[in-house]
Amino acid sequence: MHFTDPVYRNPYWPTYPLLQITQGCTHNRCKFCSMYKGVPFRMQPMDLIEQDLMELSATVPHARTIQLLSANPLALTYDKLVPILEMINRYLPDMEYIYAATRVTDIRNKTVEQLAHLRGLGLREISLGVESADDWTLDRVNKGYHAEDIVEQCTKLERAGIDYWMTFLNGIGGKSHWREHALRSAEVFSKLNPKVVGTGGLTLFPDTDLYSEASTGEFDPLDEAGLMEELLLFVENLDFDGRFITHHTSSVDLNTDDFKRDKAKIVRTLRKEIDHGDLNTMSRIRAMKRGL
Ligand code: SF4
Repeated sequence: MHFTDPVYRNPYWPTYPLLQITQGCTHNRCKFCSMYKGVPFRMQPMDLIEQDLMELSATVPHARTIQLLSANPLALTYDKLVPILEMINRYLPDMEYIYAATRVTDIRNKTVEQLAHLRGLGLREISLGVESADDWTLDRVNKGYHAEDIVEQCTKLERAGIDYWMTFLNGIGGKSHWREHALRSAEVFSKLNPKVVGTGGLTLFPDTDLYSEASTGEFDPLDEAGLMEELLLFVENLDFDGRFITHHTSSVDLNTDDFKRDKAKIVRTLRKEIDHGDLNTMSRIRAMKRGL
């Protein structure tokens, strides 16, 4: 198999195997992310994709799921994606679920009809690293889109029948903007119908712009209690019908398959954790992290 480091597998997707159709990230400018620094974006050559699929057809001929790599493989145009998905189905004829992470902006150049066709070829689920729906915060961390893009592109996915995840990156508004980040994100996420909302707590990695800005005081990060207050505000104002996942913010398990049913319990648990939790341990765990 032909992989370029780093290889990121969504830990919540039960997918095996992985297939690299692009390397790196087309954007590579989010201020909190260093994952693909030094890895130029490129499409994987078709002959390498085919070699990998030949290998998979010999080793896992009945694979029903696959995850496409790397950061945002759907940056490829519709015309480039179709032959790749057709090739996957040719070599792995039992294929049912093709998963991919990607950027909100990667949906822009595809029509609903084209997305529906990709879905027909197996593209069933997409994870969008949305991070925030507050325009000030999105600009602050250089995400490269605004709330109206999120609504427009996610609505297209819904019309095409493609399930999607939305992530909320807890902490990127900093002390000056945490309320707006939480409230506006909850408002926009609640207008949409994601299958999953995932939240992660911000960790400042030394090789990122946000770390440098925190060092000079230009960015004023939340402490552990502040991160949890922000998450609590987000959850209190979030209304959607699906699975909720959170990590890197609290040591308590807040995950549920049914957010509507368990929302009150999550709110109670978070409040208790803010008041009585071991926030020092959480801070030490965060300091040990080396990547997203
Ligand atoms: S967070 Fe995602 S879109 Fe932003 S630079 Fe990192 S990989 Fe690219």
